[in-house]
Amino acid sequence: MSAVASVKIIDGKATSARVLAEVREQVLALREAGTQPGLAVVLVGSDAASQVYVRNKVLRAEEVGIRSFEHRLPADTTQDELLRLIALLNADRAVNGILVQLPLPAHVDEHQVLQAISPLKDVDGFHSANVGGLAQGRDVLTPCTPSGCMRLLHDTCGDLSGKHAVVVGRSNIVGKPMAALLLQADCTVTVVHSRTRDLQVLCRQADILIAAVGKPRLIDADWLKPGAIVIDVGINRIEVEGRSRLVGDVDFEAALPQVAAITPVPGGVGPMTIACLMKNTLLALDLQQQAVREERIPCPSPC
Ligand code: NDP
Repeated sequence: MSAVASVKIIDGKATSARVLAEVREQVLALREAGTQPGLAVVLVGSDAASQVYVRNKVLRAEEVGIRSFEHRLPADTTQDELLRLIALLNADRAVNGILVQLPLPAHVDEHQVLQAISPLKDVDGFHSANVGGLAQGRDVLTPCTPSGCMRLLHDTCGDLSGKHAVVVGRSNIVGKPMAALLLQADCTVTVVHSRTRDLQVLCRQADILIAAVGKPRLIDADWLKPGAIVIDVGINRIEVEGRSRLVGDVDFEAALPQVAAITPVPGGVGPMTIACLMKNTLLALDLQQQAVREERIPCPSPC
């Protein structure tokens, strides 16, 4: 707990910079040994937010020395065309990670597309094999945002064993994998959602509260146990005095005097997501190399 006292506001920018520095160092060593990790990013359509996310992912990859392969496809790309591209990327030895930017256009079956990505290249951790592996506590690729939250928690308070963690939200992207990771870290986990009764009472029991709802400032100081650690995943755009600003799911100003530590929005969880994507690309490479050693997949180069 002593670490917490000096932190209070958990700095996601600083932690993500540390993660990226770790990745850069590992990439350097890999490149010196003759391997350059590669990340393919696939964008279908021209959604403005998705374009920004993809650009940032590609830029960050290049900054840490990961080779990026950008595939921008028109909005009318068919399911079959997309599946054919994924098959090519699965077979491409230079590509270690494949990310399909969501959401996909309505005519494309998102589940089928995500299932087509090789689980060993699934850097978003959305393939059923990885979702199942996480539930079983196996060493698999896990979704980037919850992984980033875990790193922030470990850096803030070290061992999480025995703590009561309450996860608000049960989406496949954040809430559910978050709960699985907390369980793996020996927390006692409660997952709450829109149908939960006595939501505030449950939240007030949390040593660790993860907010992943998408409702601006839903959670105020009354919902928090004094001394709680709060990770606010929510990103909500609101108008304040005619100006647009980003806020989380937690009322940050009201919560601050009450908590031991809290992530701000922006500058908390957000920067961790891309950093963990880079980390996952290296993990994916490692899993592929392991699979080659164990002869589960063919050797990617003459050996
Ligand atoms: P979803 O909309 O998929 O899930 C929201 C969850 O919140 C659902 O489980 C829903 O319950 C629950 N919920 C909704 N209203 C309430 C309520 N009043 N009380 C309790 N629970 C409620 O969102 P995501 O999980 O994808 O994202 C959550 C937030 O995190 C968003 O703001 C999103 O922008 C942000 N985000 C941030 C990322 C980052 O990098 N920082 C990455 C991903 C997301 P039910 O299941 O019953 O409907």
